[in-house]
Amino acid sequence: MEQTLSIIKPDAVERGLVEEIKNIFIKNNLKIVNEKKLHINKDEAAEFYKVHQSKPFYEQLCNYLSSGPIFVMVLEGENAILENRKIMGATNPKDAIEGTIRKLYGISIDKNSVHGSDSVENAKKEIKFFF
Ligand code: UDP
Ligand code: MG
Repeated sequence: MEQTLSIIKPDAVERGLVEEIKNIFIKNNLKIVNEKKLHINKDEAAEFYKVHQSKPFYEQLCNYLSSGPIFVMVLEGENAILENRKIMGATNPKDAIEGTIRKLYGISIDKNSVHGSDSVENAKKEIKFFF
């Protein structure tokens, strides 16, 4: 069994999509083993997204993730990291395939509704960051 970190980002929390998104994970055999709603500050967002610090969108990304409440979950299942990435869809909702969370709910490349860990190493780090 593998674990991964999922975040429902401010745009989706604000639109009341938490339960709908949780149900998508559950339907796809990802068990929610830990969860919490919180509002992080900009310094915490900067720490979480440190891997992107050299990117042109870093500042905006940190402002955004700290702009409102987020819903954080630990998802558990077989190949949870890759499965979650499939269920999420492409970073840009425009490129996401039908039925994925980002296709269903994403507004734009920055307001793309969810975050998911991209590797075993990052999943461990990100779960530790929040729980
Ligand atoms: N992002 C952005 N502009 C870009 C690329 C990424 O605002 O040109 C944001 C987007 O919200 C994305 C996050 O930065 O989810 C992290 O980027 P990454 O490449 O890790 O995408 P993800 O792993 O979330 O699909
Ligand atoms: Mg990423």
